[in-house]
Amino acid sequence: MEQKEVLKFDAIVVGAGPSGVASAIVAARGGAKVLLIERSSFAGEKNMFGGAVFLSALKELLPNTWQSAPFERYILKHSWALLSDKTSCEVSYQSFDEPKSASVYRSKFDSWLVEEAKKEGVYFAPSTLVKSLISKNGHVVGVKTELEEIYANVVVLADGVNSILARDLGLRKEYEPKDMVLSVKETRKLPKSLIEQRFNLKENSKEGAAKNFLGGLAKENPPFGLGFLYTFEDTISIGLGVNLEDLNRFGYNPSDLLENLKKHPSVSAYLEGSELLEYSAHLIYEGGYKKLPKLCANGVLIVGDAAGFVNAVHFEGTNFAIISGMLAGETVLSAISAKDFSKKTLSIYKKKLNNSFILKDLKSYKNVMDNLYSRTNSLMNYYPKKAGEFFKIFTGASCKPKRGEFREFIKSFFSQRSLGEFFKDIWAFLSAIIGVLK
Ligand SMILES: Cc1cc2nc3c(=O)[nH]c(=O)nc-3n(C[C@H](O)[C@H](O)[C@H](O)COP(=O)(O)OP(=O)(O)OC[C@H]3O[C@@H](n4cnc5c(N)ncnc54)[C@H](O)[C@@H]3O)c2cc1C
Repeated sequence: MEQKEVLKFDAIVVGAGPSGVASAIVAARGGAKVLLIERSSFAGEKNMFGGAVFLSALKELLPNTWQSAPFERYILKHSWALLSDKTSCEVSYQSFDEPKSASVYRSKFDSWLVEEAKKEGVYFAPSTLVKSLISKNGHVVGVKTELEEIYANVVVLADGVNSILARDLGLRKEYEPKDMVLSVKETRKLPKSLIEQRFNLKENSKEGAAKNFLGGLAKENPPFGLGFLYTFEDTISIGLGVNLEDLNRFGYNPSDLLENLKKHPSVSAYLEGSELLEYSAHLIYEGGYKKLPKLCANGVLIVGDAAGFVNAVHFEGTNFAIISGMLAGETVLSAISAKDFSKKTLSIYKKKLNNSFILKDLKSYKNVMDNLYSRTNSLMNYYPKKAGEFFKIFTGASCKPKRGEFREFIKSFFSQRSLGEFFKDIWAFLSAIIGVLK
């Protein structure tokens, strides 16, 4: 009888997003035989984000070739706006220094990353869904795809936010809706010259802008969420992320909320004349440090979104993905040298994460989302409205005495909100800040 050849690698990486490709590159660069498996027909085919990649992490991974990435625009202008019905109060920041992030299409960027990985000797298997992990004597020893079993000394789970493989292995618990954000996004076509005009970007340059919006989603019972807008060469993305529990509780449909945001006068002005090219949706897990999964077990490591590595306050995800992937790649190499793929050896990954910004940031931000979530109505409704009322007086030249107007404003500030509620807001914001700094 003909014997079937057993496919065996030093490492298998499941998922060709930024975290998976980064682990594959580092392991292969160090001499490991690595198979990178992706369920889509090409990397990035179904991946979505806001989005801009952070260049610092990319430079660490690919110091010589990062500049050849398919960047759309370098994000040099950022703004954060508080939206009420008829007002927008905006803080903006512009950098005249080296860009720190760049907008990319995931379909192009992830594919480019995979090409870089192939140059480093990584074997790439697209259109291959990993259905389950193979375990023997308490060790993960390979993966089962729809067609075959493939074996490896170590498997890196880089399968993104809903890592079913990590859940099935018992590395993580079921997510709770309170920790989940559902994001919806439209990609809209707009001529390059109009983008440059509307966002005040240098003509024919690669300058880009990113905007964030707080408020403007719903008049009553606003859900906890944030809107975003990014510029690309000749498209813009407009989207939002909303807490899943709030969506269920208030019965909102995320696309209705996105319509509300798009209709806000300060947002619609950017979209005028644009044409919808694509609508996409994705989950973000914000359980953070308090709900980290087990980061390794015998023969397995978990990286990027699969491990819950995101900092939603700063829209950081791809940098966490790339750096955690790199640390996992280094861990694979150490395990190969030690010829030991047990949890004990692989747990150096956790030490590396602890020494990096990843677990340091997740730890210091561990209460921020809970603190802000507890004050949803203040953040999403009350303060955006009050900020608008304040600047209406400040800029309005109403020909009424300012003293009276400001006194009226202060009176309304506290008559519509008890002192107790006000102190709760202050306490929540201060606790968030102190948590980050301590
Ligand atoms: C709306 C939104 C906006 C965001 N904006 C930003 C931003 O502006 N900047 C930023 O840095 N981050 C942003 N993020 C976060 C960022 O996108 C993620 O943190 C990052 O993509 C995580 O990379 P990853 O490789 O871990 O996972 P992913 O990019 O999700 O990749 C996982 C890969 O695994 C594959 N896969 C899954 N299961 C299997 C399987 N069983 N077999 C084979 N393949 C499988 C998937 O097809 C996918 O290619 C945003 C996220 C969202 C949702």
